[in-house]
Amino acid sequence: MTKFSRHSLGSSKFFVMIMRYTCHNAKLFTNVSSQFYFSNLTFVPKCYPVSTEDVMRLKEFVDRYHHLCVLTGAGISTESGIPDYRSAEVGLYARSNHKPVLYKEFCDSEAIRRRYWARNYIGWPRFSSLKPNITHKILKHLEYVGKVGCIITQNVDNLHLKAGSKKVIELHGTAFRVMCLNCDHKISRHELQRIFQKLNPSMIATTQMIRPDGDVELTQAQVEGFNVPACNNCGGILKPDIVFFGDNVLHEKVQNVKNNVENLDALLVLGTTLSTFSAYRIVLQAIDAKKPIAIVNIGETRADKCINLKVEGRCGDILPKIWQLNISKDYKMITKMNNF
Ligand SMILES: [Zn+2]
Repeated sequence: MTKFSRHSLGSSKFFVMIMRYTCHNAKLFTNVSSQFYFSNLTFVPKCYPVSTEDVMRLKEFVDRYHHLCVLTGAGISTESGIPDYRSAEVGLYARSNHKPVLYKEFCDSEAIRRRYWARNYIGWPRFSSLKPNITHKILKHLEYVGKVGCIITQNVDNLHLKAGSKKVIELHGTAFRVMCLNCDHKISRHELQRIFQKLNPSMIATTQMIRPDGDVELTQAQVEGFNVPACNNCGGILKPDIVFFGDNVLHEKVQNVKNNVENLDALLVLGTTLSTFSAYRIVLQAIDAKKPIAIVNIGETRADKCINLKVEGRCGDILPKIWQLNISKDYKMITKMNNF
């Protein structure tokens, strides 16, 4: 890590800023050094270690463009202990015959809503307590130094915000908020958990099982006995503020994403196969806007044939390598950003 003397810096304000930045980096450096602590590889698909050539190609891409728009998917949360849907052997589809609930089913069927919320209630304590991993932390750092202008995530796990990133667009909503299908009322998912506890005192919310949206398995009797509250504002149906399969991303959000893609210099895609159209559309928008695109993912993606750079591998393996190569460069960037 770079060391600075107060004498050579001259200004106390500058000294304070450098110390703040150095402490910030020291903390991150510790995290990078002990990345195993942050990496739960249970749900990470098998892959080869990234080659040095690929690391250098990606480093060149990241260095060349000043302001990156980053698109993230389930592949960056697997190292926090959340399985994705589609990965071979370790993804949810490979390990069970479970399919996520569809928007229309949820709206139309009280039984499906009851089952959804009962499972979600049991899974919530574990799901909501999971921690960001090294990829989330590095993206937060890159936002801090001005390299990342926007993070668009398909994940509903709140991990970018937990890591401290501010410029986050949650493309598919968040599991941490609950909405009413009838009025505009919204409550936090934590608040709903407290209501569930009061309504279902004999049901204990604890499990080691987990799914990408916090869902778990329960018996039919457990599901049928579960009490689900209505909206306390209008009596309407409560739904997690998540874009379910079969639902659409709000127009304003799509426009906001489009503006960010067009205004930033390049698109960096991390940990997604781009199987959902709402994510693939972002790559198409970047191609239309003639923005360079790089993808880091384990396995094929829908856009491999039409982008500038594809790196195969685990984000938690690759990003720390680039970050460590760029420590002094980021220092220069932050001093420039603060007009020193
Ligand atoms: Zn309502």
